[in-house]
Amino acid sequence: MTETVADCLFCRIVAGQIPATVVAETEHSLAFRDIDGQAPTHVLVVPRRHVPDAVSLATASARELADVVTLAARVAAEEGLEGYRLVANTGAAAQQSVFHAHLHVLGGRELTWPPG
Ligand code: C5P
Repeated sequence: MTETVADCLFCRIVAGQIPATVVAETEHSLAFRDIDGQAPTHVLVVPRRHVPDAVSLATASARELADVVTLAARVAAEEGLEGYRLVANTGAAAQQSVFHAHLHVLGGRELTWPPG
């Protein structure tokens, strides 16, 4: 089931109303390059269904959450990443700026810890 929200940026990307560089997709998920990449590979993986964050996706559908994570791993493999970081900023205090669930896939350079 796909639920969309008219003024949601990622819903509009999923619907093809806003251009994005799509790198992979499944029935339930879409992967596209972040417009402001923070690493040589910086891809966002989003569920087609509109939910506000990754935890809400887990509650709505464990299968669709698994689909997002699996697609993120596929993107990492296709990009040739040996190691990578999956990030789900959750809530404004954690710098989530788009309230449609998404995983950042970051890699292609040495990643430091802790994050800022
Ligand atoms: O975790 P957060 O919600 O901050 O991530 C949203 C991401 O969406 C940002 O990394 C931003 O660069 C990206 N973005 C994008 N295309 C847009 C607007 C935002 O890739 N048109």
